This record gives sequence, C-alpha cells and structure tokens, in this order.
Amino acid sequence: MTRQRKHAVLYILIAGFLIAFVGALLFLWLYFSSMREMHQTTRKLYEQPFAVANAALALESDLHQVRSSLLYATLTQADRKQLANTRLLIKAQQQLAQQKITVIANSYSDALQQTDLLKQKLALLYDVRDQILTQLAEAHYADAHRLIETQWTARFAEVMRLNEAILNSANARATQYVQESQHRLERHTSHGLRYATLLLTLFLMVGVFVAWRIYQLHIEADKFAFTDFLTGIANRRHFIHELESEVRRSQRYNSPFAFAMVDIDHFKKINDQYGHHAGDLVLQNFCLKCVTALRTSDMVGRLGGEEFGILMPMTDLHEAARVIERLRSEIDHSVMSDHGEQIHYTASFGLVSTAQLGEQQGLAHLMKMADVALYAAKQQGRNRIFIAHH
Ligand code: GH3
Ligand code: MG
Ligand code: MG
Repeated sequence: MTRQRKHAVLYILIAGFLIAFVGALLFLWLYFSSMREMHQTTRKLYEQPFAVANAALALESDLHQVRSSLLYATLTQADRKQLANTRLLIKAQQQLAQQKITVIANSYSDALQQTDLLKQKLALLYDVRDQILTQLAEAHYADAHRLIETQWTARFAEVMRLNEAILNSANARATQYVQESQHRLERHTSHGLRYATLLLTLFLMVGVFVAWRIYQLHIEADKFAFTDFLTGIANRRHFIHELESEVRRSQRYNSPFAFAMVDIDHFKKINDQYGHHAGDLVLQNFCLKCVTALRTSDMVGRLGGEEFGILMPMTDLHEAARVIERLRSEIDHSVMSDHGEQIHYTASFGLVSTAQLGEQQGLAHLMKMADVALYAAKQQGRNRIFIAHH
C-alpha cells in the first residue's frame, strides 16, 4: 500500500470515528436534556399533592388550637383582656385557613368543588365559634362549655370529614403521578433506545458513505496524479519518480537494471496521413504491445508525445536487448486498423544499463545516455535498437 493510500485509510478512519463521536454526543445531549425536562415536570406534579396534603393537615391542627384556646378560656373563666387575646388568635387562624383553602382550590380542577364545600362547613364552624365567644363575653361559661362539647365537636367532625377526603385525593394523586412518571420513564427509555438505534444506523450509513466517497476520490486522485490519461500507463512524473528510486536502489545493492527510451518513428506523418485520432490509437496500441511483450515486473511510462520509457529491473543489457527486440519485431510485423485504414508503424529504441553508470552518475546521466542512444537509432535509419556505449 502506498503512503498516500495509507493516509487515505487513516483519514477515512478518523472521519468515521469523528462522525460516530459527534453522533453519539448529539444523541446523549438529546437524551439527557429530555430526561431533565421530564424530571422537572414530574417534580412540579409531585409538589401539588404535597402542598395540598400539607395545607389540609395544617388546617386541622389550627382548628384544634382554636378549640384548645376556647376551652382554655372557658375553664379559666377568662376576663375581658384574656378574651381579647383569644379573639386575636382566632382571627389569625381564620386568615391562615383562607390561605390554605386557596392553595387547595388552586391545585387541581376538581378541587374547587371540594373547597367550596369546605368553606361552607367552615362557615358553620365559625358560627358556633362566634356563639361560644358571645357566651364567654357574657360570662356564661357553662353554656360555652356545652357548645364546645356538642355543637363545635359536631361541626368540626364535618369539616374533618371533608378535609380527610381532600387529603385522600391528594394521596391518590401522588400515587397516580408516581405510576405515570414510571410509565413515562419506561416509554422514554424504549423510545430513546429506538431513536438511538435509528440515529446510529443513520450515522453509520452516512459515515460509510462518506468514507467510501473519500476512498473513491483518493483512488481517482491517485489515478490522475500517476497515470497518463490517453494510454492509462504511468505518466512522466510517476515514471521518473520510480526510475529515480530504482537508480538509487541499484547503486545501493549493486543490482543493475536496464532502461530503454522509445520514440515512435515518423509519428508526425501518421498524424498527417490518418488523422490525430489514428495517432492516438497508435499510442494506445504501442502500450498494449508493451504489456504483452514485457514482464509484469517491467514498467512502461509515457515521457511525452510519442516518447516512452521502459524500466526492466534486475535485467542485464543482453537480456534487455532480447526483450526489446521481441517488442520491436512484434510492432514491425503487425498492422493496425482504424476505420478501414491499415496502419503500420515502427519504433526506435535507445537501450542503456545502470551498470554503465559511473559512481557519481545518477538519473540525469542515465536519461542522457538513453537519449543519445535513441538519437543514434534514429540516425541509423529508425526501427532499431541502439545500445549505449560507456
Ligand atoms: P521521428 O521519427 O524523428 O521521431 O519523427 P516524428 O514525426 O515521430 O517526430 P516529431 O517529434 O517531429 O513528431 C512528433 C509528433 O507527435 C508531433 C505531435 O503533434 C505528435 N503528438 C504528440 N503528442 C501526441 C498525442 O498525444 N497524440 C497524437 N495523435 N499526436 C501527438
Ligand atoms: Mg519524438
Ligand atoms: Mg517520433
């Protein structure tokens, strides 16, 4: 795998990881924010029955206190001043009771009816309370005591019955809310899981698609960067790059390779005679011949126009000359057809080996030698191989 390809795979992995990470973060954020919202609503719901229960219980204890203070005033035969204190306490209780009733009435829609009834019963209780106060003011303590024991107790029992009903419905509400919130939580979790699966699948699909596209673009970019558009073989940049590495390797390990520079003969004439398109076909045909004649370890590149380079690793001059001669002869003995036209072409080759290079001589010198050899092949009448001298 080339370095570029390794980078491409790395980028794809990073992109996939980032997409999955962002997806997971988004889901967690959505899930927890809706969870928090749900808890807030549930808490608000819980607060209501508790407030109602508190108000009902406080009302009951306040009324007990009123009874105690009335009884105390009766038993101690309270004087005017003491009675004034009792009245103050009673007045304060009545105001507090009103506040508690408002809390209950504002709690749920059906509580309004209960509070109306409660108000009526309380009004009757307050009537008795005022009668007791009148008796006390007139120092009729026995009558006051009798009223507390009979009338007050009876009216108080009625208020308490209603209060109890309110307390019970508050408890029922609380139980109902607990159940409802449990159901909501279950629903939320199952929906959450479903959406999570859906989202992750979606993100995965998008991730895979993006990764696939990136990979494709890299392949395409590689193709454009390394190959010649017309013939599909290595372009000049890629070929020279490979040739340079091969020169270095051959010098380091002392394993010479052969290099041939090729130029199609009288190509201008082919273009002029058969047209530019036929010229293009000749270039493609030449590459096809190379693929069949050469070994898979050999490499062909287009150096420009109708000029090509052939790199033959681990090959000495003698063996290379044999291979190139096979290619030359194959081209010379075949005819190509384009729109009924029979086209015959030949090529000239300048052959050189890295074994011919001096210690300080590199790629530039190799190219120069091959170019000179090619020129000599042309000079000697074309359609031939010229092997470079030292
Ligand atoms: P020689 O035998 O000396 O090599 O003669 P030649 O005609 O082959 O050489 P010359 O360099 O004079 O002509 C090369 C021609 O190749 C000129 C140019 O128009 C043509 N050519 C370059 N690239 C392409 C191409 O991609 N397609 C086609 N059809 N022609 C091209
Ligand atoms: Mg040329
Ligand atoms: Mg030519």
